Amino acid sequence: MIQIRDVTKLYPAQDVRSSSAVGSASRNSGEKWGTRSGENAIHALDHISLHVAKGEWLSIMGPSGSGKSTLVNLIGCLDRPTSGEIWLDGQNVAGISANELNRVRAEKIGFIFQQFHLIPFLTAVENVMLAQYIHSMTDEKEAIEALTRVGLGDRARHLPSQLSGGEQQRVCIARALINDPKIILADEPTGNLDAQNEEIVLRLLREFHLQGRTIVMVTHDPVVARLADRRVEFHHGKIASQEVFAMADDEQFDEVLEELWVLAEHGEIAEVERMEVHGALPVSLAVERMMQMGLVVSAPHPPKAHDHKPFVNPCHDALKPMSASTGDGTAIVELTPRGRERAGSIIRRHRLAERLFTDSLAMDSETEIEQQACKFEHILSPEATDKICTFLGHPRTCPHGAPIPPGACCERSSGDAARVVGLSSRQSD
Ligand code: ADP
Ligand code: MG
Repeated sequence: MIQIRDVTKLYPAQDVRSSSAVGSASRNSGEKWGTRSGENAIHALDHISLHVAKGEWLSIMGPSGSGKSTLVNLIGCLDRPTSGEIWLDGQNVAGISANELNRVRAEKIGFIFQQFHLIPFLTAVENVMLAQYIHSMTDEKEAIEALTRVGLGDRARHLPSQLSGGEQQRVCIARALINDPKIILADEPTGNLDAQNEEIVLRLLREFHLQGRTIVMVTHDPVVARLADRRVEFHHGKIASQEVFAMADDEQFDEVLEELWVLAEHGEIAEVERMEVHGALPVSLAVERMMQMGLVVSAPHPPKAHDHKPFVNPCHDALKPMSASTGDGTAIVELTPRGRERAGSIIRRHRLAERLFTDSLAMDSETEIEQQACKFEHILSPEATDKICTFLGHPRTCPHGAPIPPGACCERSSGDAARVVGLSSRQSD
């Protein structure tokens, strides 16, 4: 979708820039300020190559002045690179005319900036309609619909000065979306917002991601960055590091599944707010992702007040037995059949590992056993798990007495299984 090839962007050094008009439209014609001489130029971007897949959500982080906004402006056709190629949806926009740039921008790109860039004397709906006008034709009904989608249907006639920061940001989002862009560029979209509005904006971004749009988002906030599929870090106009989040998230999802399984074993309902699973994402966000993946579903809390049974999960110390709480309307989470299958196999790996360390390796430190089992549950392949299970004689319970979900190997040993399992559980009890 977005392919950046060996892109360099030079700006004239500070003293030269300060004498040029602010916001000058000729920013890109660096050569005429003598930016070919290395000393005289600021290397805002220095031979950057980067690919963003269709539908991917990329976070860009890095210290101030590292080139993040420059890159976003280049992708957004607000500016042209000094050298290199920028392919958007199969078209190299690095060398096209200013008119062409405007057209590509209007058709493909939606911007969400930290500074809202709303026209102060136009109402919310007029600001949105202005974007329509630049693209094609204005349609007030459609513009109001876009405002309604971001929760501002009743604020359409307000001027920006009559709106809070969060509301102004949402007007920008409605404006960014009005032309149904394939690419959303967000430069510190939550930088100026309070927690509540930040959450609204992030939810909207997640929605766009689910709709299959490609998102490039600059942020200083590591938690916000984690919402993306991948993060790149800029330093001095170069990519300093990259991180793909899917793998780390997977481990946290496993932990959540494990916890849900154990709660169900104890006949407890899983309230999102009561769950404490360590990992990069706040539990509520992890759970939302897992809902999208079809691993869990959410349901309203049963209306009746109830006490939680205080219990300790010996297999998973992250499960904190909280004092009794009442049904206060928080959401509860349940495993889907797919989630149950994945949870069952994590629990199986964990408890078999505990058995292995206790019985066969005669480890006696409970902490050590738990730490090792927690690592093993993420890395054991299905084959290795079945081998350990067979080696241990298909044990039925973990050393704490919690049941081990049977695997394919247990079923295979069919006729014998009942006898073997019975035997081994007698041995272990
Ligand atoms: P970031 O968004 O990471 O804070 P920018 O991309 O805005 O960084 O800036 C990268 C570098 O380019 C900085 O040193 C900045 O001063 C410089 N720069 C940005 N825009 C211009 C410009 N229009 N003219 C001259 N220098 C600029
Ligand atoms: Mg910036």
